[in-house]
Amino acid sequence: MTEPPMHSSDDIVLLHYKLAEDGSGDPLRAQDLIDFFVATNRSPKCPCCPHEGAWDFSLQTVEGEGEGEGSKNLPLSIYVHVMIDGQRHTTAGMTCPKCGHFAQISTYKIREFQASRGK
Ligand SMILES: [Zn+2]
Repeated sequence: MTEPPMHSSDDIVLLHYKLAEDGSGDPLRAQDLIDFFVATNRSPKCPCCPHEGAWDFSLQTVEGEGEGEGSKNLPLSIYVHVMIDGQRHTTAGMTCPKCGHFAQISTYKIREFQASRGK
């Protein structure tokens, strides 16, 4: 059996994307998160309970976008974390419909994915 590799300073990746959404440009939407999950092969399984499948996305309510076909692609609600040095880090959020476990996804990873797709 091989030992798992030790962590080293090579593990530190300098960020080339802004950690935080600043509200400019097109908002991230539900479909952007789904596309990111598909591309990264993220598991739909909850780490806290037996649920495996759809999660409740935190979505913004937008006037005129709440009903019909478009209602499934609403903008994601964006959570803002403020670090001790004042730097901001934003995330999208989703809740396990069975146990309520709340998971957050760093928005910069979604933007990074979109950039790699030329979006
Ligand atoms: Zn769960």
